[in-house]
Amino acid sequence: MTLDFVFQMSPMRVVFGAGRRNRMGEELDALGSQRVLIIADPNNTERAQELAEQLGEHCVGVYDQVAPHVPVETAEAGRAQVLQVEADCCVTVGGGSSTGLGKAIALEIDIPIVAVPTTYAGSEMTPIWGLTEGGLKRTGKDPRVLPRVVLYDPELTTTLPPQVAGPSGMNAIAHCVEALYAENANPVMSLLAQEGIRALAESLPDVVRTPDNVESQGEALYGAWLAGVVLGSVGMALHHKLCHVLGGTFNTPHAETHAIVLPYATAFNIDAAPDAKARLAAALETPKVASALQALGDEVRAPGSLKDLGLNDSDLDTAADLATQTPYFNPRPVTRDGIRRLLQDAYDGVTPEP
Ligand code: NAD
Repeated sequence: MTLDFVFQMSPMRVVFGAGRRNRMGEELDALGSQRVLIIADPNNTERAQELAEQLGEHCVGVYDQVAPHVPVETAEAGRAQVLQVEADCCVTVGGGSSTGLGKAIALEIDIPIVAVPTTYAGSEMTPIWGLTEGGLKRTGKDPRVLPRVVLYDPELTTTLPPQVAGPSGMNAIAHCVEALYAENANPVMSLLAQEGIRALAESLPDVVRTPDNVESQGEALYGAWLAGVVLGSVGMALHHKLCHVLGGTFNTPHAETHAIVLPYATAFNIDAAPDAKARLAAALETPKVASALQALGDEVRAPGSLKDLGLNDSDLDTAADLATQTPYFNPRPVTRDGIRRLLQDAYDGVTPEP
């Protein structure tokens, strides 16, 4: 293979380990932050309160008005809160929705963000922001939204219900799979992506079976971190396009949609990307990569078909039209008929090949 690539990495500090959240003060001191606003979703308010107590007078409030996909009104309200309490730092505690609100704040206000992820979404490692207005989600890339510090504490994911943890982990695997055949793939990111798939595939079944096993949670969160790194570093392709269309048009749940579509997008693409296929096979320890991803999704209790999400036949036509309207990079050429067939297979939940 002839090597020819560009490599760039985001300048972020990552702190990882069980119980690490209890040393948040050290991170904030290093940033010089004296007035911290904690942003948390309603399922993480207890953690946020604990953190607030730990920070004492340096915490100026806990804000829990987080909503999925960052509605513009939520972003405006969050920014107003930052200004009102005169915060000089935001700590986000939660999944992609909480991180997303922190990013929306940092997009307009020059304030450092410390992210404490409690799902496997990976948003904390990317410069990608998203805002929803009138039912339409806009996304963009801006280095100002990158958290300055990301603190991963596997004790925090132990409370994830299995039906959230499983799809969330499959969503992370999807970032890694598409990174392997990205247009701007590079050998370092491919190594990280392969290792991310391995770590997640190995740990997720245990995470779902015994959520309080901190060792498995650590392995899954490590995989999720790698997935976030590759998502923030190289471009995605057909799989992410399809999930974006389905979520944006039919409001299907984010992580579940990824879990369902991934085996079929993989089956569609993988023979056109031999290096990605070899790495994926090594990570999953089988050449039957697409069916192995489907089996893993089943094992971690992700929904199995687009039918399960309440879509119907004509929705598949609409999705196929939308997903083929504008050109984008994909290792295998995208045709309307090919995508319609892929969606039908995902709708029926057939076993994909290979
Ligand atoms: P989320 O943040 O909405 O969390 C999903 C659910 O899990 C919520 O109900 C939340 O309250 C709950 N939850 C979170 N942590 C928990 C815990 N430890 N215990 C119990 N419950 C918990 O969703 P998500 O799947 O984490 O993220 C999806 C969002 O992130 C989407 O909007 C997606 O577009 C965005 N995203 C953005 C990027 C990016 O790079 N910008 C990357 C990935 C995802």
